[in-house]
Amino acid sequence: MARYTGSVCRICRRENLKLFLKGDRCYSDKCAFDRRSYAPGEQGQRRRGKISDYGVQLREKQKVKRMYGLSEKQFHLSFVEADRQKGITGTNLLVLLERRLDNVVYRLGFANSRSQGRHFVRHNHFLVNGKQVNIPSYLLAVGDVVSVREKSQKVQAICDSVEAVVRRGVPQWLDLEKDKMKGVVKNLPVRDDLTMPMQEQLIVELYSK
Ligand code: SF4
Repeated sequence: MARYTGSVCRICRRENLKLFLKGDRCYSDKCAFDRRSYAPGEQGQRRRGKISDYGVQLREKQKVKRMYGLSEKQFHLSFVEADRQKGITGTNLLVLLERRLDNVVYRLGFANSRSQGRHFVRHNHFLVNGKQVNIPSYLLAVGDVVSVREKSQKVQAICDSVEAVVRRGVPQWLDLEKDKMKGVVKNLPVRDDLTMPMQEQLIVELYSK
């Protein structure tokens, strides 16, 4: 599967939004977006011209896809599942993305970015309801308990992340027991819990063409 291997800070600059893809660096004065909030590349400092409706929809899809660090195929599969479910497709899509294990690991503070969360999950650092799960796309349900495997509780990067989570806060739909290195999905997120600027309706329009 093709994966983007370039500078992730370019993605924020391309999407004209801080996407918080690099952990602690995003909160420091080293953030590339804070320093140069124009698009990357030679033409980056030219005024952004008017873009078509299709262009707006495409950029929104790219932004959300990159925020969660998914490939086009993975993102589209999530959309298909969201469309199959009852309710508002756009909201379903965001809730599905939030329920992914790599995202919950990040939200609970066991990793400082989603990509680090995915890496840690793949390296077997977590248990879900007491069983080892190493699938980043694993979907969590209400009541599921995510814990750091005993052997991994001394991994410095995990300890550092959980200390730093205070800065960004744990969302209300999750409950973190920091001392026990575990967290519970109290309820599924509702749209208002997702505070990053996302216009999911544009993604629905794009995929519905
Ligand atoms: Fe984006 Fe973080 Fe890089 Fe800033 S430091 S540009 S928020 S990835």
